[in-house]
Amino acid sequence: MTENKVIKRWIHSHIQSLQAYSVAKAQGLVKLDAMENPYVWGDELRGQWLEELKGLALNRYPDGQAVDVVTALTQAFSIPPSLSVLLGNGSDELIQTIALAVGGAERVMISAEPSFSMYRVITSITGSTFVATPRDAQFNIDQDALLRAVAEHDPCCVFLASPNNPTGNPCDPELIEKIANACSGIVVVDEAYDAFSESSFMDRVGAHQNVVLMRTLSKLGLAGLRLGFLMGEPNLISELNKIRLPYNVNVMTQASAAFALQHLDWFDHQAEKIKKARERLLSSLASMAGVTVYPSAANFLLFRVADGSGEAVFSNLKQQGVLIKNLHGTHPQLADCLRVTVSTPEENQLFLDALQVALQ
Ligand SMILES: *Cc1c(COP(=O)(O)O)cnc(C)c1O
Repeated sequence: MTENKVIKRWIHSHIQSLQAYSVAKAQGLVKLDAMENPYVWGDELRGQWLEELKGLALNRYPDGQAVDVVTALTQAFSIPPSLSVLLGNGSDELIQTIALAVGGAERVMISAEPSFSMYRVITSITGSTFVATPRDAQFNIDQDALLRAVAEHDPCCVFLASPNNPTGNPCDPELIEKIANACSGIVVVDEAYDAFSESSFMDRVGAHQNVVLMRTLSKLGLAGLRLGFLMGEPNLISELNKIRLPYNVNVMTQASAAFALQHLDWFDHQAEKIKKARERLLSSLASMAGVTVYPSAANFLLFRVADGSGEAVFSNLKQQGVLIKNLHGTHPQLADCLRVTVSTPEENQLFLDALQVALQ
């Protein structure tokens, strides 16, 4: 193909040096790579949902404020009345919204890595500088290093995933408090895995002008809908709302989310099943020779295989029809590390059987 001259002349060099987010092909494979919920609604709920969709006016723009969804979310997740809510097309979009509001040349965003890769990617897209601080051998954040980095760089934004992806461990709420007090910028507490975790920062957000709490319906079982929500001090949320595109949450998503949230007990029930399955999968992995597994408060487990065998184990599993996530090469602390989504007991067993074979 001929060279496109637009690229060299106009595409920002920091964009040229990025790689597009690539999603592994999963057709025909047991899909345990993306923290999706394996359970789907039965015929009755599905029928009721389709009835709701029937009445939608696709010729009309959605409700720009998505009032019904905000009301349903506020009720379902007991969002304190002192906080405002901003909706995103997935929480990925909310990360972008925050980054567009505060990022730019000469500005720094911080996260303790290894963590969710989009923090770094989106920081780069806004032309900001990304600073990574370390975690210890158990992937807990190095408090002193993070506080030092905050003091040194005066970041416009700090991202703290709790539980963290891909390591599964929660962030100590006292550390969030310390960072919030030490940092003049926005502290994003990303609780994408709240459904599987025992603790939340929700009740403490209101005490800080600069803390925003981010959640999503994706990991709960609605990844296809693309709905994330951000909660924080109303004036700060109003500023972020200026960046949101007018109709970022479409009609089908609004109606489906409002319907789903009336059936939160169904999702809670599945989350309980997944948490139980997680503990069983954890002990199975822990009992396998050559496997080190890390405890998790999310719907996935991170584990490490013998030195230099990560890639081979990943490929072998795939050949056997099981797709998980290969993290080898993404961060020095993740050498030979793989991440598996906790699924149904049947799929978890398929994975364990395949892993037995792959480890031989
Ligand atoms: C999956 C994930 C997200 C993105 O969620 P979407 O709402 O599907 O965009 C955000 N943060 C973390 C830590 C995640 O693991």
